[in-house]
Amino acid sequence: MRSESLTQGDLFKFDYFKCLRSEFAKNECSICIDLCPEGAMVFDRGKLTLDANACTACSACIGSCPTEALMSETFDPNHFSLNFSKQSESLISCKENVPCIASLSVEHLISIALRKEGEVVCDLSHCLECSVNKDNKIIEIINSMIDEAQKFLQICGSEKEIKVQTEELEESLEVGRRGLFKKLIGVAKEVNEEVSMTELMNSSEEKQPLKRILLKNALKLQAEKFPENSELDVNFSFVKAKKIDAETCTNCQECAMFCPTEALSLLQDNTGIIFQMGKCISCSICDDICQPGSIKSDSRFDLVEFSFDRMQLLVKHNLEICEECKVAFPYHGGEKVCARCKDFRTNHADLFTLAKDLE
Ligand code: SF4
Ligand code: SF4
Ligand code: SF4
Repeated sequence: MRSESLTQGDLFKFDYFKCLRSEFAKNECSICIDLCPEGAMVFDRGKLTLDANACTACSACIGSCPTEALMSETFDPNHFSLNFSKQSESLISCKENVPCIASLSVEHLISIALRKEGEVVCDLSHCLECSVNKDNKIIEIINSMIDEAQKFLQICGSEKEIKVQTEELEESLEVGRRGLFKKLIGVAKEVNEEVSMTELMNSSEEKQPLKRILLKNALKLQAEKFPENSELDVNFSFVKAKKIDAETCTNCQECAMFCPTEALSLLQDNTGIIFQMGKCISCSICDDICQPGSIKSDSRFDLVEFSFDRMQLLVKHNLEICEECKVAFPYHGGEKVCARCKDFRTNHADLFTLAKDLE
């Protein structure tokens, strides 16, 4: 069992191996910490911890974790996305079916809108008086998630619109938080075909988050609506296009080795790096790990590349054996000495002088 309980009541589970910040020394992901309205989530000495007394179980931290390292016993945003799309109700509401709309992510909202036959309405009518919405932080986060999801729906040619309800409907939606949690536990225990499918995916060796697989499946279903030119000059928070400068890349391959979702991988003969935009979660680990700063984010987004996991060759090297260390390196002409040996010669020439003096 890789996941550990974050609270005594076992409400939240945390998979340390999936958490970017716990796994990668330079990573500074703080999405869950920033989302928590109570400041209950803290990162202390390499470990994410939750103050059970401060936590109100709003679950705002769950859905937006890029790697799905955080899980709630009472609410699974992936199960919710699939189940809600099949139901006739159109309202996503903290009084009805979610602990808080912030417990979903932009990717969940897009998936829901694409799969749903009818309209999707986010109920924000309770946010202003909600204790979770401290300094209007949560309502701002939800609005920006809806805006980003809407922008994505537009660029993929969907006519779907995520509507917002800001005034309470006349009929009472009052269920109460306690009643709601009982209801959510019931939903989480429902067994149906698609739930088994998600469990199957969870248990597999799949490195990309399940919400990404669900989003790409939803996109494939409506690929005929994609614009003719699927390469667009837009950015989304949950994915990045990457590019590598072939002149400075040393082919150390660390970016591919450390990419948590295997969005970066090696060519079979180890002469280059391949990228799959559909698997990238915009974690920046590759940027942080690349010593020469050769890998960078690119301001483009390609719907077909993203939805169908198309591979893009980022760099292909002509390798030669270094005359000094005898290791293969990307050769750009001139003497056959790798960058590391050249650097050693330039910056540590005094060692050679010293060795000669000692002779
Ligand atoms: S959002 Fe997820 S990956 Fe980021 S620090 Fe929190 S648990 Fe770790
Ligand atoms: S892009 Fe950077 S990390 Fe990746 S192989 Fe090239 S030098 Fe190494
Ligand atoms: S390609 Fe880079 S930014 Fe994208 S998931 Fe891999 S390491 Fe993270």
